[in-house]
Order: sequence, then C-alpha cells, then structure tokens
Amino acid sequence: MKYQLRCKKCGSVIPDFATWFAHDQQCSCGSAYAEVEYPDAVPFTFSPVHTNSYQDYYFDILPLLDRQNIVSFGEGLIAIERWHNLEEYARKHGIDCQVFVYRNDCNAGSGSFKDISAALAASVLKENGIKDYCLASTGNAGVAFATYLAKAGIRFTEFAPNCIDPETVEAIRRVGQPVVISKGGYGDAKREAAEFHKNNHVLISGGNTDPLRIESKRLLAFECLRQIGRLPSVYMQAVAGGTSPLALEKGIRDLNVLSASQHSEYSLPRMLLVQQDECDPMVTAWEKATAAGFPEGWHLQYEAKHDIKTRIGILTAANPGNYPLVAPLVRRSGGTFLRVSEADLPAYGKEMLASQNTLMGPASMVCYAGFFQAVEKGLIHSADTVLLNTGEGSSRSSWFRSLVI
Ligand SMILES: [Zn+2]
Repeated sequence: MKYQLRCKKCGSVIPDFATWFAHDQQCSCGSAYAEVEYPDAVPFTFSPVHTNSYQDYYFDILPLLDRQNIVSFGEGLIAIERWHNLEEYARKHGIDCQVFVYRNDCNAGSGSFKDISAALAASVLKENGIKDYCLASTGNAGVAFATYLAKAGIRFTEFAPNCIDPETVEAIRRVGQPVVISKGGYGDAKREAAEFHKNNHVLISGGNTDPLRIESKRLLAFECLRQIGRLPSVYMQAVAGGTSPLALEKGIRDLNVLSASQHSEYSLPRMLLVQQDECDPMVTAWEKATAAGFPEGWHLQYEAKHDIKTRIGILTAANPGNYPLVAPLVRRSGGTFLRVSEADLPAYGKEMLASQNTLMGPASMVCYAGFFQAVEKGLIHSADTVLLNTGEGSSRSSWFRSLVI
C-alpha cells in the first residue's frame, strides 16, 4: 500500500482518496481533518533534480499512484534565495544570521503560494476521476485551482468575495473557468460555495486542513534540506487561513520518519506569523492570550473582525477558524504573531525594489515587513537561519504596484 489517510480526531484509517471523496471528504466520525500516511515508504534520499515538477521529484512520498496523472506547469522546486540585504539589516542590529526567501512567485502555474496545493489537488482529482470541483477563495487559490484543474480537464467554479481584484477574475476566466462574485465578503462567498457544493454534489476544497493542501505544502521542509542543507530555526509568513504552518509541522514529522539522514531529530522552527493591521484577528486573539497568561482554553478564544478595510484581497480571512490549530503550534514553536502596518507596505516595496530589483505582491510584503519588525523586537538571534515563505508576485496587484513604482 502506498498511502492511506488517518482521521486526526478518532484515528480511523481511510484507505484512499477514492473513499475520502466518496464520503464527502469526511471520516465516519464526521471529522474533516485527516492526514496522509505512507506505511511502506522507504527512507527518502535527495537525488539530483531532473524535473521541474515537485510531484515527479517527490512522487514516492505523495498520495498519487500513477505518474501519468501528474498535472504540472513547473512548481514547488523553486528557488530558495539568500537575501543579503536582510542579513545586512540584522547585522546593523548586532545580529549575525542567514536569511532565505522561498519565492512562490517563481511557481510557473500562476505565480503564487497556491500553485503547489492546486497542482497536487489536480493530479489526485484526475487520478480519482473527479470532473467537477469548487472553492471559495479571495484570489490566489482561485487562480491556481482554475489553472491546474483546467489542465486536468476538470471544471472548476470559483466563489469570490466582492473585493476580489479584477486581474484575478480575468486570470480565472482566461483559462475558461467560471467565477461567481458574491455581493458580500469572503464569509458570504464561502456560504455560497457550500450551498453550491451541497445542491449540485460538486466536490469542494476541504479548506485549511485539506489533506491535499497539507500534503503538498509540507514539502517545504524537504526543499529546505535539499536546497540549504538544513531546516530554518525561524519561519516567517503572512498568515490568512494558516495551512502552511500546519503543513510545515507535518513535513517535519514526516522528515523524522522518512528522511534517510543521520540527523538525530528535526525540530520546529520558531514561527513568526504576520498579519496586516487592517485584518489581524489572529494577532488580536494572541495578544489577549498573552496578556492573560495563556489560561486554559486560550486557543479557543478568538473573534471575527467586522468591517475590515484591507486592500490585500488574499489576506482577508476575517474569521480565523483555524486559529485553534495554528496558535498552539506557534506557541509550541516558541514563536509569536506580529502585526505590521498596511500603510507602510509601499515603503517596504520600494526598499525591495532598490535592494533586490524585484517587487512582490502585498501579501508577500506583509511577511517582508514582518522581518524588519522581528529584528527590531529582538525575535531573531545570531546564528539563526531565517526562512521567509513569500506568497505572490505583484502581477495581479496593479493597485499595489502603482503605490510603489
Ligand atoms: Zn474520525
């Protein structure tokens, strides 16, 4: 047996994705959170790369049975660059660290964070004969799934909030997939997608704990080992839903089981997760928990934000439903949540343009700005290896480009 799923709630085994999909992506106990396991996997060794598809390279540790089903544009095996300007900034504060950036804008599918998830989802859906899929998304996920599922011959319906960028809508329609734009925000789009799923029996993306998303994104841990020879000691990203931190944790657990290296034990990097002040429900909840000394049940205490004014469409998760899973992980890692000023982001864009001759999109800039703050707050130490997992390029955010250039 190559793989199986195991329910995170009751521990039951679900034999394969065919069964998982047939039961509406739920365990018999009703939980929608299951993880993929590889009972018979042999230790993974890093061979030279002769492919541009991470699914091809990591095929032995992905829930796919036939390479013929791989849907890829070239993603996942992207550059982890060392950014000396950030190291220089830390040095000015007396900190001697190394800083790397995992550039999701280099994914060939749609140039974002979400290409890696969408690629594996497209392949597994194709392998299991799924013809129709839907998702509510604030932008990047919609474009990525539309693009990859179109290549797999699967119809995909995007449910978007009213604040979606016009470039994003155009990118989805360009690949021939339909977009339903809600009159309301992300919460309304999610409700409409759920109704569509129910009424039309169309499979819907399983959200932030979807095993397809976790399983693809977990490979970041493997990519760190392949490209820089070690795991980071500090991990940073802008957070909306929070799939990636969960995926990284799973990846590190898998590394400890699947890695052929003699390394004793890989441990969790300190997670510094960043939100912009115009939509920061996780930071707010975390600050309250910190002030109260993390009392019993602290991780269940969070509130949705109302009337959010952020212009960063892909970071508008006003109701942080994943906080009860993500926040304890951040705490266990010794990390924290950071808030950056959205109004300051264009200035960081100018700095990036000047020092790196590149400009990323606004969600990436949230992470980037967070690095400067982390240095100033003493959250990064000498000898740290810092990894910034940046989400997107600036091509679908002309409003942001116009504020920088
Ligand atoms: Zn269960």
